[in-house]
Amino acid sequence: MSTVAAYAAPSAKAPLERTAIERRPVGASDVLIDIKYAGICHSDIHQVRAGWGEAIFPMVPGHEIAGVVGEVGPGVTGFAVGDRVGVGCLVDSCGECDHCVQGLEQYCAQGWTGTYNDRDRNGDPTYGGYSTRIVVNEDFVVRIPDALPLDVAAPLLCAGITVYSPLKQWNGGPGKKVAVVGLGGLGHLAVRFAHVLGAEVTVLSQSLRKRADGLRLGADHYYATNDPATFEELAGTFDLVLSTVSAPLDLDAYLGLVKTDGALVNVGAPEEPVSLNLFSLLFGRKTLAGSIIGGLGETQEMLDLCGEHGIGAEIELIRADEINEAYERILSGDVRYRFVIDTATI
Ligand code: NAP
Ligand code: ZN
Repeated sequence: MSTVAAYAAPSAKAPLERTAIERRPVGASDVLIDIKYAGICHSDIHQVRAGWGEAIFPMVPGHEIAGVVGEVGPGVTGFAVGDRVGVGCLVDSCGECDHCVQGLEQYCAQGWTGTYNDRDRNGDPTYGGYSTRIVVNEDFVVRIPDALPLDVAAPLLCAGITVYSPLKQWNGGPGKKVAVVGLGGLGHLAVRFAHVLGAEVTVLSQSLRKRADGLRLGADHYYATNDPATFEELAGTFDLVLSTVSAPLDLDAYLGLVKTDGALVNVGAPEEPVSLNLFSLLFGRKTLAGSIIGGLGETQEMLDLCGEHGIGAEIELIRADEINEAYERILSGDVRYRFVIDTATI
């Protein structure tokens, strides 16, 4: 075991504070990573506040981890000391079910192990990236291309893959009209990816406040959803509407924007249930779907694409003692577009 510095929430809704945690010894297939940067995902806030239900405390959040390999176990074949690597939302899965075998570890039939707020195979709590080091089985570690600085790469490990995966699954490419709902951490990367994949991209944000940013990130069009005229003008327009909204969404209104045979795909994870009038699907043979993160292979594919195209997140780098303030700013919509913790300040 080794003791490492971390930031943890001692109980639900409590502010995060500096603490020390134990990391397991480096096993045969493990990689020890010196964490350099950790992104702050809205999911961290949902979980610190126990908004998704019961949670494990103390909680060290963080599933957007970028760092450098500091040590490898004797059986590790894919990584060497000094490699630039990342860890996302999952650190283990059964490895044997149909989904794991297909590289869809995020749909593991046994349930995957979360990077934090979960328990490992020994029943010990997992602790995330708001810390200086982490020990992870090499199968759950990905490479960060040399072309990408580690700080802007960190948010790709959750926000990036979460929007990349559905864009690929629902063919958000050439000839397709894609709308991205919510221009936050996930949304701004969705705009970048949909643009690079060749789709015609529209941002649907609550107001026109971030219009210039949206267009700069690669959107072709930008509309405010606080203007009811938007829903009339864009009715039946999109092949794919991708919602990244962290609050309950008016599904019926957004399904109205979907073309016949198109899809509304939701990746937002609000704390309250939403309602749906099924007639919103019937007229137009529309699909309502969801998607969670992505598998390890697809995450590597996304990172390699980002390396080729120089795609990273637009970030605000913060010190660890600014985490609580950053949470408040995210909740008030004051984020452009991802907070990333410099873990040297922990
Ligand atoms: P974020 O940076 O806070 O962005 C969310 C955006 O949603 C905001 O920027 C805002 O966009 C919009 N929004 C917020 N409140 C709203 C409201 N009341 N009504 C309408 N729009 C609102 O959060 P994030 O880190 O991107 O995460 C977004 C959601 O995805 C969270 O619920 C998170 O837990 C979830 N998530 C899911 C997965 C997955 O695998 N499915 C992975 C990661 C995160 P505008 O200001 O542009 O309107
Ligand atoms: Zn996340």
